[in-house]
Amino acid sequence: MKKTFFLAIILTINTLMSQSVHYQLSIKSPNSHLAEVKMEIKEINSSEIFIKMPVWTPGSYMIREFERNVISANAKSGTQALDCKKTDKNTWKVKIPKGTKNIEFNYTVYCFEATVRTSYIDNEHAFILPTSCLMFVDNMTNKKGTLKLDIPGAWHRISTTLVKTAPYTYEFENYDDLADSPLEIGNHDELTFNVAGVPHTVALVGENNCNKEQFTKDLQKICETMTDIVGIHPCKSYLFIIHHVEEGGGGLEHANSNVVQFPRFNYTNDQKYKAFLGLCAHEYFHLWNVKRIRPIALGPFNYSQENYTNLLWVAEGITSYYDELALLRAGFWTEDDFLKATSKNISNTLNRIGGSVQSMHEASFDAWIKEYRTNENSLNTHISYYLKGSVIAALLDIQLIKASNGQKNLDDLMKFLYQEFYIKKQRGFTDEEFYNAINTVAGQAIDFKYWVELPNDNQSLEKIKAAFKSIDCELIVKENKKQDYTGLILEQKGDKTLVRSVESNSPALKSGLQAGDEIIGLNGWRVKNNFEELIKNCPVSTEIPVIISRNGLIQTLKISSTQDPKISVSIKVNSAANNQKWLSKKQ
Ligand SMILES: [Zn+2]
Repeated sequence: MKKTFFLAIILTINTLMSQSVHYQLSIKSPNSHLAEVKMEIKEINSSEIFIKMPVWTPGSYMIREFERNVISANAKSGTQALDCKKTDKNTWKVKIPKGTKNIEFNYTVYCFEATVRTSYIDNEHAFILPTSCLMFVDNMTNKKGTLKLDIPGAWHRISTTLVKTAPYTYEFENYDDLADSPLEIGNHDELTFNVAGVPHTVALVGENNCNKEQFTKDLQKICETMTDIVGIHPCKSYLFIIHHVEEGGGGLEHANSNVVQFPRFNYTNDQKYKAFLGLCAHEYFHLWNVKRIRPIALGPFNYSQENYTNLLWVAEGITSYYDELALLRAGFWTEDDFLKATSKNISNTLNRIGGSVQSMHEASFDAWIKEYRTNENSLNTHISYYLKGSVIAALLDIQLIKASNGQKNLDDLMKFLYQEFYIKKQRGFTDEEFYNAINTVAGQAIDFKYWVELPNDNQSLEKIKAAFKSIDCELIVKENKKQDYTGLILEQKGDKTLVRSVESNSPALKSGLQAGDEIIGLNGWRVKNNFEELIKNCPVSTEIPVIISRNGLIQTLKISSTQDPKISVSIKVNSAANNQKWLSKKQ
């Protein structure tokens, strides 16, 4: 006992004497949406340090410029103010006087963006996403530290997976650990359950009509289903933060938690509730796929710039595939529900014009400038790595089942990647290593890169059909017989019918219509939220006058409608052992 006590003193002295960063986050006036942050930086051994605000948050691949919310910053040592200047958009340089080891860096940050990827403070609660409000010290991100909270006395609950060491005080292993540990602070409800011996907490934030008992059971079932895929739960604890909103959705994953939005009264809508369970499954599965099983570029992160990888389709596409498969495996969806969802994904993928322009590798690499920054032409040039990635994942699952004569499936690839890279090599995988892993699990070379680069053409459709046939399923393709295709994507603003997008090689493009045009008349009829109805009453393949307003000027153009080139597919399962490995609830 004495020995342990002595060791503890040495460890404490060592910690105090080694470099570390200690944060205090104060919320003094929640109505102002401001957080005051004090960083105590200890044992500095250089003449200057650089303190930076992340410009993006992992999991959401877009530069968001969190530094724009910083209102003021200054540095001091004791009572002495230090020279502190910005050197670029997100960096503050602090000069350290000779002999000074410890300094204090103070700043105020505005937190009023209610999304899963930004911090938010109001008079009811605070959601702290560290990447969006806690800066880091360059070259010290591997140092341990603490986070102390100074919050309104009326707030009694703090939900986070950071380790609590004293009241309102938490410790972190390094900046990545802190950055990946959001905090929900307020008076929200909590639910609890266990999965694989790991305690799970659910923070239910804001008014809602959740049936807590049922939801606890259902979410636990989802978590157990997702845990079965890799078979090992690596977390010490896990946290769901659910923000109930008037409208909205989406989520963001973290290593030991996730944050999702859900409309507050949708718990009683069966379809929306199941879709929400799918979203929870998605964010939860990321604790393995992307947080631990990951492309090499996705950790450790460079928080000051884009982090490029060709494999976001692996992180998001495979996870999207599993969030639907989870609903089948956990019994929330029937086999028919799952097959309909998969068919819809295939149809939407093949109908997307941008799918012939952008490969999955390109979509992954360019996520920073395209996936999160779409415009009116995106449908012609871009395809989502969530959507097409989930189709590729289904094809990968099928290929693995076929190649292994029904012995292996995608679960085995996930298990292999987890063991080989997260456990043994303790790093992410390169592109080549990922594709080699597929061959290893398949037991033969299946050249999966071909499928990832799959263009949207008839040849690909035949290959997809053949893949399904190989596990005794039939892909039935139905051509759209409708004759009212123009290639216009419209949006309604009040009484105004506006062109949102124009598809490549479409009659609308040939007519000269463009995004932003307001359609006023068609074939002599007034257009008022009824363009689709009116075009059906026009002769096919015949030029019809269309009156538009563009930039305040009235023009008459000519447009014709043709047969819709889009297809829809459905999947028919023939009874055979092979597709059981695909659709069976128990793997
Ligand atoms: Zn995701």
